[in-house]
Amino acid sequence: MEFDTKLIHGGISEDEFTGATSIPIYMASTFHQNKIGESKYEYSRSGNPTREAVEKLIADLEDGTAGFAFSSGSAAINTVFSLFSVGDHIIVGNDVYGGTFRLIDAVLKRFGMTFTVVDTRDLQAVEQAITPQTKAVYLETPTNPLLRVTDIAAIASLAKKHALLSIIDNTFASPYIQKPLNMGVDIVLHSASKYLGGHSDVIAGLVVTKEPDLGEQIGYLQNAIGSILAPQESWLLQRGMKTLGLRMRAHLHNAEAIFDYLNQQPLVNKIYYPGDPENADYAIAKKQMNGFGAMISFELQPGLDPRLFVEKLQVITLAESLGALESLVEVPAIMTHGAIPRETRLKNGITDELIRLSVGVEDITDLLADLAQAFQGIAE
Ligand SMILES: *Cc1c(COP(=O)(O)O)cnc(C)c1O
Repeated sequence: MEFDTKLIHGGISEDEFTGATSIPIYMASTFHQNKIGESKYEYSRSGNPTREAVEKLIADLEDGTAGFAFSSGSAAINTVFSLFSVGDHIIVGNDVYGGTFRLIDAVLKRFGMTFTVVDTRDLQAVEQAITPQTKAVYLETPTNPLLRVTDIAAIASLAKKHALLSIIDNTFASPYIQKPLNMGVDIVLHSASKYLGGHSDVIAGLVVTKEPDLGEQIGYLQNAIGSILAPQESWLLQRGMKTLGLRMRAHLHNAEAIFDYLNQQPLVNKIYYPGDPENADYAIAKKQMNGFGAMISFELQPGLDPRLFVEKLQVITLAESLGALESLVEVPAIMTHGAIPRETRLKNGITDELIRLSVGVEDITDLLADLAQAFQGIAE
């Protein structure tokens, strides 16, 4: 089945009992057991039909064998990290999501896990960071907000060589753009609050595995920890996911046009976009991504105030988050990445002038006109 057909007919696409083409919201905590131990569902933390539908769907979309839905992307990440124990060492990409960094730094370190932060584009640096205690490599590609791209297949094979798990947060790409399990990665996870949900109306997380033992371990942890996605949210997430293909094509079309526009705009100093042929990661992006994503970051010329620019935008919404129908803009230095000390932030390339744009699906004419009036406004 092709990807767009899977979105509609993949997973469990109709209700077993009524034939309803939209899986009902099963608001039940427990289920009648005709014979002890023989029922399909027992208790909704362990399994719920509405949640199961979205779990089977994401497993299909990522070409995995088991999917798991959580109350947030952060809950999904925490559950995956619960595979590890005191003394275990994990190599982490150097610009992972701020909340992931906070979880590692403020919580997991207290449980005796250790972490080394590495630019995962540098395979030698990753290999050098491996110790006898290393159990996994965890990364995002493209990254936030500089959209750096790591060679997924190369990392997966390096991990295999050293018997490490490879874990990828696929939030910024979505399975429309890349399927890491097919490149040898062990665990893929998502903040489904972004492209998968797609409508800025649900907080959810998803995990997918291919190897059955690993799937069983994640399932065990999901039930043991209990940060599951509720039936209503599971339904809403599946409803949003059905249009992922339609939305992604519109996102990609608009992103390309905005990149071309920014490229011609003299008030722009630098653009970060994996589809820029001058970008250092372009060849890898072209190799492993189906389209370059719809996130674009750019720097204004030195001295120009990014606050003034984003506040002048009228169609493009000033807000955190990404992957929504509506175009969203933010200033990482004072918003999403404001908690990082300025020196570290600058060292990582996140300047005060940087602006991050999540390109939405509005008519491109309006988006370009909005950008043009904001540039004109700050030039005056
Ligand atoms: C938003 C986000 C998360 C966290 O997900 P929540 O659903 O907000 O908990 C994790 N990783 C990435 C890349 C994100 O963008």
